Amino acid sequence: MNIEKYKQLITELAPYDARLVAVSKTKPVEDILQLYNTGHRIFGENKVQELVSKYEALPKDIAWHLIGHLQTNKVKYVAPFVSLVQSVDSLKLLQEIDKQAAKNNRIINCLLQVYIASEETKFGLDETELETLLSSSEYRKLQNIRICGLMGMATNTDDETQIENEFANLKRIFGSIQARYFTHAPYFCELSMGMSSDYHLALKHGATLVRVGSILFGSR
Ligand SMILES: *Cc1c(COP(=O)(O)O)cnc(C)c1O
Repeated sequence: MNIEKYKQLITELAPYDARLVAVSKTKPVEDILQLYNTGHRIFGENKVQELVSKYEALPKDIAWHLIGHLQTNKVKYVAPFVSLVQSVDSLKLLQEIDKQAAKNNRIINCLLQVYIASEETKFGLDETELETLLSSSEYRKLQNIRICGLMGMATNTDDETQIENEFANLKRIFGSIQARYFTHAPYFCELSMGMSSDYHLALKHGATLVRVGSILFGSR
């Protein structure tokens, strides 16, 4: 856990009004506690089982973000406590989150994950799929989820121009979706993009949340 890097990162984010999601996947609870003790509260995990066991072991005022692919049959394990599901990539998943949120008497905040990279391995919806989802009568019925914005991952490449184009495209999609579906919904305000290698580019293009792991906690 690199506290100096953390402080530097917080200083870098401040002028952009962006917040840090400290991605603690594979790292022990001791590392998380160390950052927690400096006052940090937003942590991200990509696996349900690991998220649940860390939730149980750590202080309850941590805001846990799920940033990895979520299977519908695992929603029930995170529904009682998750603060933001950043990786919603289907209507079916959204419906299950809504159902489990209702069972827990809460509203679960979600981001829709958008496919912006040129790699085939990344999850997410394309722009047409986003619009189809948000226009559907099934979506409009959901009472226990709130779509707070979009999340995306750029291609894993050294080509900064390509990465910037992908982030700029996500920002454009965000604006278009906001104007069409969320005009009177101030909660639709989050744009989650940027990781250790490219958060500085994401900030230039309007990220409000950056998900940074390895430069804080060391490589995995
Ligand atoms: C692991 C992960 C990150 C953080 O990656 P680093 O390179 O360690 O900063 C961000 N977003 C997602 C979806 C991840 O799975």
